[in-house]
Amino acid sequence: MLFARAALLLLIAFVGLVVGAEDFYKILGLKKDATEKQIKSAYRKLSKKFHPDKNPGDETARVKFIEVSDAYEALSDADSRRVYDQYGHEGLKQHKQQGGGGGHHDPFDVFNRFFGGGGHFGQQQRRGQDAHIKVPISLPDFYNGRTTEFQWNKQQVCEHCSGTGAADGKVETCSSCQGHGVKIVRHQLAPGMFQQVQMQCDQCGGRGKSIKHKCPVCAGQRVIRKPTPVSLVIERGMDDGTKIPYENEADAHPDYVAGDLVVELMLKEPDLEEDNPDHLDGVFFRRKDNDLHWREVLSLREALFGDWTRNLTHMDGHVVRLGRKEGEIIQPGHVDTIPGEGMPIWHEDGDSVYHKTEFGNLYVEYVVVLPDQMDNSLKKDLKSVFDKYRKKHGVDLQKDSGRPEKPVMHQGHEHEEL
Ligand SMILES: [Zn+2]
Ligand SMILES: [Zn+2]
Repeated sequence: MLFARAALLLLIAFVGLVVGAEDFYKILGLKKDATEKQIKSAYRKLSKKFHPDKNPGDETARVKFIEVSDAYEALSDADSRRVYDQYGHEGLKQHKQQGGGGGHHDPFDVFNRFFGGGGHFGQQQRRGQDAHIKVPISLPDFYNGRTTEFQWNKQQVCEHCSGTGAADGKVETCSSCQGHGVKIVRHQLAPGMFQQVQMQCDQCGGRGKSIKHKCPVCAGQRVIRKPTPVSLVIERGMDDGTKIPYENEADAHPDYVAGDLVVELMLKEPDLEEDNPDHLDGVFFRRKDNDLHWREVLSLREALFGDWTRNLTHMDGHVVRLGRKEGEIIQPGHVDTIPGEGMPIWHEDGDSVYHKTEFGNLYVEYVVVLPDQMDNSLKKDLKSVFDKYRKKHGVDLQKDSGRPEKPVMHQGHEHEEL
């Protein structure tokens, strides 16, 4: 095993020399102005793709895994990246020889530090718990789509001590349990009768190792929690409750592979100040699956005589026009169905040439408001119109119920808006 490891390291050094000329940015599929985050993201993707555990016996993948590791090593450190950008591979080699940032690293160590764990995949590997985070998203963001970022307090492997917990990097075998992590305790049950119980070592907490000088940053805990940004892409029409997984991005720990971070999108109640700087009416739509609902208030006069318009400003700023012509009555509670003005219907492939975005319906429900205070003369006038009409036609329960079969009033009494 030891021999194999040494041979591997030799091989890595050799491969490093041969392929050293390939551009580090190209290896990671990045441009020269890549951000720190893009470098991390590229390494996360490619190191997993080419990991020898996932490509058993594949020599090309193994070489790629080493290249990706080298490239990440060089570009993830600001100091060595600057040297590389300026002087290339040769400059970086000299820089390292002069003691600037380590030598050639074992790619499995690099992988290990990045993801936490033993540098390998596999079922024998311990795995941390998945982390679930709910992120509130406004309705306009679900409608328009958005790329955003949030932070959470993630556990990370302490960089100061590289996850050893020791200020000087020195970790010793626990003298209390001789490195086993457990101790056998004998209880005497009766004279000559003993029970042996295996207990976790209280000196080292079961690790089998002890630290003399604790790391000042993590206090020997080997991990620290700190606010960590996560980028989030909300696609148009995604559902309230959509879960977006981030592989191996839950809490990290040197002893195990991090679990997945699962982000759940949660519909947020509209906030007048924060979410609606453009005064869009659509912010107050209610969503039901792919459809939207809106309640529009009409005066008695509008409901009865028609001849009105409304402009609803949708969530992307376009206007939906509502209205009736003169003489068109609207019953209280009537619902208009407006096709194509609902939510964009989410599609796995996103918007593409193969797929055009379709939309659900917008349902507009009309609420008719009767005036609770009325000018006295208007009240008199109105009543006289009703009385005159009633005298002419007699008492008709159907008509008095207010359920018209045809327009009831023909003369307009336009004293004021009702
Ligand atoms: Zn111990
Ligand atoms: Zn530390």
